[in-house]
Amino acid sequence: IYGYAENEVGSALDARKLIHPDDIAQAVSDTNAYLEGKSNTYSSEFRLLGKDGTWKWTLSRGMIVSVSADGKPLRMIGTHIDISERKHSEAQVFRLAHYDSTTDLPNRVLFHDRIEQDIKKANRSGQKVTLMFLDLDRFKEVNDTLGHHIGDLLLKQVSQRLLNCVRIVDTVARFGGDEFTIILNNLNDVSSIERVAQDILNKLAEPFQLGNENVYITTSIGITVYPEDAVDVDALLKNADQAMYTAKEQGRNRYYYFTASMQKIAQERMHMTNDLRVALTNAQFVVYYQPIVELATGLIHKAEALIRWNHPVRGLVSPAEFIPIAEDTGLITEIGNYVFGQAAQQVLKWRKHQPNFQISVNKSPVQFKNEKHFHQNWLDQLTSLGLPGDSMVIEITEGLLLDTASPISKQLESFRETGIQVAIDDFGTGYSSLSYLKKFEIDYVKIDQSFVHNIKHGANEMVLCEAIIVMAHKLGIKVIAEGVETTEQRDLLLSAGCDYAQGYLFSRPVMADDFEKYLFKSQDSIK
Ligand code: C2E
Ligand code: CA
Ligand code: CA
Repeated sequence: IYGYAENEVGSALDARKLIHPDDIAQAVSDTNAYLEGKSNTYSSEFRLLGKDGTWKWTLSRGMIVSVSADGKPLRMIGTHIDISERKHSEAQVFRLAHYDSTTDLPNRVLFHDRIEQDIKKANRSGQKVTLMFLDLDRFKEVNDTLGHHIGDLLLKQVSQRLLNCVRIVDTVARFGGDEFTIILNNLNDVSSIERVAQDILNKLAEPFQLGNENVYITTSIGITVYPEDAVDVDALLKNADQAMYTAKEQGRNRYYYFTASMQKIAQERMHMTNDLRVALTNAQFVVYYQPIVELATGLIHKAEALIRWNHPVRGLVSPAEFIPIAEDTGLITEIGNYVFGQAAQQVLKWRKHQPNFQISVNKSPVQFKNEKHFHQNWLDQLTSLGLPGDSMVIEITEGLLLDTASPISKQLESFRETGIQVAIDDFGTGYSSLSYLKKFEIDYVKIDQSFVHNIKHGANEMVLCEAIIVMAHKLGIKVIAEGVETTEQRDLLLSAGCDYAQGYLFSRPVMADDFEKYLFKSQDSIK
């Protein structure tokens, strides 16, 4: 291109502005191949800007007719042919071969192409590929009663809704009839897959406005995952299809996993989600308290509130199991407010016994995001009980401080204005940035259990704990060690200058009554 443009027409025409940007690389490489003698006729296809401002597909062919003394090409002859029409029909043929004409979605052929590419990518990155097979429920009825025209309209709208449920990296394809497939990339856990599946069910369940009719339809989805369930595309399709049939058999308007274990997880999660919705109204939550002991004196004037779910059938369910679901469904805000309320009433009571008593409450990042009026609810609860801010501590995780998108600092600031203190939970497992601790004026860091469990003289964990303690103290932050189970751990932490400890050595989380009975009593004997 450059040799050509500079020698002959370069002055009259700025080739780089006239050739479509997408075609320049190809044109340059065609030209170079020729100039370097790899081919004896030059030929290239590119779009050229016409005087009327439209792009014309051009076939440019040529050969060099004169060469300079040092062997550089000087002059070439050739032809430019307008091949726009041919290109247009080629594109149409491609579309016909790869896209469904009713919905404009990729068809079976392109689907195969895409999933094979996606599998290759997944192999390189160690990620998973999820395949969904969808079949609309009772589509035939719509087609038969309202006619094919309406049936096609419905398929078009279904396609749009499906596209709205996935990301740009995913593929929605029409397989024919009322069958669709979806390829989801890089979703590595069941809960993200489920979010998409549930979203599809919800979106398709909303009425479709077709001509003068309001049409309701649902869908059944089969789900399979590469590489767990199968490694080749045909087998994956068979799995997903089979799972889709099970979804139909189970009553339609649902999804089903090919793998029994995934289906079991999904089912349990679904049940748990349903049960969780009524847990609050049915008073199934109980707040337990675990003492936080001052190491130097053995005194207890702090406790952490830890929620328990008393499930009518399963018994006591650990928060590790249901908090993630509560976060996904947004129920966490209500649950969190409940815990705070319980803890506030408890601290009011215990302050009569111990005037500076303090209870800490965990607050999930989701709660910060959901809150429109910051934590007005919590502040109101304190005010109505006549409690000072410093009767409560909020435990947050490091990740929250990194999330610059949410107005976290404002929220933390307004906590501090009322005297509520802030602790960083599970410290050491996340980003552990010093600058964040300083920027957000943190009161406590809680060293994660994983460090505490492994501390020994000279061990890495011991060195890390010592470093965290020294650093925190320099910043005016107190340190709480979590998961202290042995006297050896306690003594090492004490010698390292740790301020507080929490763990089974002192007490498991217990009900408020037991806390009063045993812990305050033992404290009285210390005094
Ligand atoms: P976390 O905030 O790190 O709470 C400490 C966990 O360690 C508690 O588990 C506690 O029972 C356990 N633990 C305490 N001492 C020891 C020990 O010596 N050894 C061992 N192995 N474990 C010990 P739990 O109660 O099951 O809570 C799990 C997590 O659930 C909590 O971790 C917290 O992230 C979350 N959580 C609990 N209650 C709430 C709540 O009300 N709101 C929110 N958002 N999250 C909560
Ligand atoms: Ca905590
Ligand atoms: Ca923790």
